Amino acid sequence: MKSIHVAGNTYVLDFPALHLPYYKKSETEIILLDTGLKREHEAVLLGFLEEENLTVSGILCTHAHIDHVGNAAWLKEKYGCPIAMPKVEAEIVSSLLNLKIFYGTYPMNRIRDHFGHMVIKADRFIEETETEILFQGVPFSIIHTPGHSAGHIAITTPDDVTYIGDALISEEVMRSSKLPYAHILSKDLMSKMKLYHLRSSWYILAHKGIYTDIKDLITDNIYFYKNRAEEILKVIEKPMTFEDILKSLSRSMRINISTPFKYIVVERMLRCYIEYLEETGKIALVLEENFLKYTKISHQR
Ligand SMILES: [Zn+2]
Repeated sequence: MKSIHVAGNTYVLDFPALHLPYYKKSETEIILLDTGLKREHEAVLLGFLEEENLTVSGILCTHAHIDHVGNAAWLKEKYGCPIAMPKVEAEIVSSLLNLKIFYGTYPMNRIRDHFGHMVIKADRFIEETETEILFQGVPFSIIHTPGHSAGHIAITTPDDVTYIGDALISEEVMRSSKLPYAHILSKDLMSKMKLYHLRSSWYILAHKGIYTDIKDLITDNIYFYKNRAEEILKVIEKPMTFEDILKSLSRSMRINISTPFKYIVVERMLRCYIEYLEETGKIALVLEENFLKYTKISHQR
């Protein structure tokens, strides 16, 4: 397991598609910023901690997605460490029933089987008004960047290193990703704008990279997400159902939907762009013969 030293006591664990930062509180204790995916990262993470004789004394999470809280439950169990996370995110993963509220289109058995390990009881709720927290004796700055998820935060360590989490994606992810997810795209874009004002020495992206300057990346991200929305808008040539749009888009963007589960995933991704187009007045909802359809709004006079 490669551990990269960023600055001072701030390090990053370098996984194939993930950067997992940690703050070294002492020779033997670390605070993890997010926890990775259970299936892919659990064994390697445990191996690293044991090899280096490190104890996790706290977990600070940016948001409650599966690749960020995936290992939180067993780490808390093993090390007895507290978990801090934004309040709204903590509520999502507080029980299977709350996960069902979030993953509304998944049946309960799938919630249990696929997302059950995400259930955790956070010990410290980070409120929307908090911009500085003291966690396990270490002061962290909090930048509220909602949008990618309801209560997403970026975190600055005492070494002036900001962990951006998923509030930005790398150029590489932009090249490979067809419909990157945003819970509320309009809010996500506003949060990306907010990042222009950050003045940190270093920035870490979850997927992935370590940067000293993120201005161009922010611009590219905003352009990329807006451009994806525009591409979807182009597909809506006439009043179309959600399924019609998905079908047409999977063809034009060459999205391979091979299993019912993949369909549900793509459906969730597309939904956020459709909502954004409606929210920004580009499309409207119409009802035709009892079918809900989306139609382009013409702004020409
Ligand atoms: Zn995420």
